[in-house]
Amino acid sequence: MNKKVVVIGGGLGGISAALHLRAKGFHVEIFESNDRLGGKMNEHRWNEFRFDTGPTLLTMPFILDDLFSTLHLHRPDYLDLTLVDPICRYFWDDGTTIDMSNSLETSIEQMAMISAKDASNYVNYLKYGRRIYDLSADLFLFRPIHEISSLMRWETLAKLFHSYEIDPFRTVHNANRSFFHDPKIVQLFDRYTTYNGSNPFKAPATLNIIPYVEHELGGYYIKGGMYRLIDVLSNLLQDMDVKIHPSTRVDKLIHRDKKATGVIVNGEAVSADYIVCNADVVNAYNTLIDGFERRRVRLNRLEPSSSGLVFLWAVRKKMDRLAHHNLFFASNYQQEFDQIFKQKIVPEEPTIYVSISSKSDPRHAPSGHENWFVLVNTPYITEDQDWSSLIESTRHHVLSRLGQFGIDLSDGIAHESVISPLDFEQKYGSNRGSIYGISSNSRTSAFRRPPNRNRDLENLYFCGGSTHPGGGVPLTLLSGKICADLINDKKR
Ligand SMILES: Cc1cc2nc3c(=O)[nH]c(=O)nc-3n(C[C@H](O)[C@H](O)[C@H](O)COP(=O)(O)OP(=O)(O)OC[C@H]3O[C@@H](n4cnc5c(N)ncnc54)[C@H](O)[C@@H]3O)c2cc1C
Repeated sequence: MNKKVVVIGGGLGGISAALHLRAKGFHVEIFESNDRLGGKMNEHRWNEFRFDTGPTLLTMPFILDDLFSTLHLHRPDYLDLTLVDPICRYFWDDGTTIDMSNSLETSIEQMAMISAKDASNYVNYLKYGRRIYDLSADLFLFRPIHEISSLMRWETLAKLFHSYEIDPFRTVHNANRSFFHDPKIVQLFDRYTTYNGSNPFKAPATLNIIPYVEHELGGYYIKGGMYRLIDVLSNLLQDMDVKIHPSTRVDKLIHRDKKATGVIVNGEAVSADYIVCNADVVNAYNTLIDGFERRRVRLNRLEPSSSGLVFLWAVRKKMDRLAHHNLFFASNYQQEFDQIFKQKIVPEEPTIYVSISSKSDPRHAPSGHENWFVLVNTPYITEDQDWSSLIESTRHHVLSRLGQFGIDLSDGIAHESVISPLDFEQKYGSNRGSIYGISSNSRTSAFRRPPNRNRDLENLYFCGGSTHPGGGVPLTLLSGKICADLINDKKR
């Protein structure tokens, strides 16, 4: 008889787990509290404008291709991925602007406009990133790191002998300073630590894998908008007879004799052989799982990743100076991270990321207009923040800062929608509004991230950005695959 799996939450991790499990013959039901799937990867529409609300850049596309292959499908028949070039246009206060590209030669030429010496070391830097990737990706990304069977593989043990080469003892910033001398180039590579909501002045240099992944393996955009991924995967779930319950919140997990046996939905018990929880692990222990107070306290002590404020602006003009992805750096980067992680205040002078998908997909805004996604990194939620006034002051800072870069938006915004840390917490259940689960601000974070197989209750599994291997589109897809493999192995 085929076993039944209940998936709590239809974010990317839950969708990936459901597809992988269904492909292995399990009966799967997804309960999602919002009216549509996708979680933080969502979209907003206003008149003729279309906006992505979460991810704007896809890396490691082979993980997505792998999901399609598992379903005996060919990804290009469903989704058109395009390399965005430049990957990102960078702006500094003194008027310096460079484009980092998918072309190595172009990136080197552009970096050389800042420092010829640093540009000449870029190839070495990418080699160093590749070495970290080769040594760590298998254990830290593709396998369930907390399972003894993963650690005891011969290849893993052999690689552990080279563990100093994954650079866990220096910070990202210190390692970048050993490769580059110009503060702008160091800042450019420090910035990648924010891809998982962490602080480059604290996080281990192992995270220097990220610029390698983006520059060597490519930074992609999904034609039609990033939310196409959720649309396409939702259709596949339906084609494969996965039952989806939108607007249906799971209120409790049912467990007996240290085994998870089902969930409570609308006051009714729904039984299952396995539960895959895509809800944030910390919040799951705070609200769904009763009876494990010590674990709950311990999880709440882990430092959450940063959060963010997103402004979606329908802009009444076209800015030819801007590319699809743009970054306006703060002049004092260390202060920005101190304010986010130590003082836990929204930076007074934030680094500003602006993504304009209508540059690649003109249909996302009417002619002569643009759809701006503007992101600044913020702290996770604490008790003494007043987000309505923080939104006002941040909007003011962003507009005046963009003005300093010669970008005048006065009377230029036809419509605004704001996504704040409170939305990440209240709408998607992210612990204290954090975007990427726990931070990677310590050497041991990879091991402290909650495991995919739950230690307290048999038959309970966790996927999504708050679990191993972490946040971001490719990793949350992997978390779902890892859960499905663990469940399938157990069934045998
Ligand atoms: C502004 C922003 C920019 C980003 N940019 C990028 C990027 O460029 N590239 C990239 O790779 N990644 C990016 N990310 C990260 C990426 O979006 C996330 O890591 C990923 O989407 C998280 O997926 P998840 O599986 O953890 O689920 P989530 O999106 O957190 O979804 C969890 C789901 O569970 C549901 N849920 C929770 N509790 C319950 C319950 N009790 N009952 C029923 N349902 C429940 C929620 O409603 C939600 O839909 C970005 C994120 C944000 C917010």
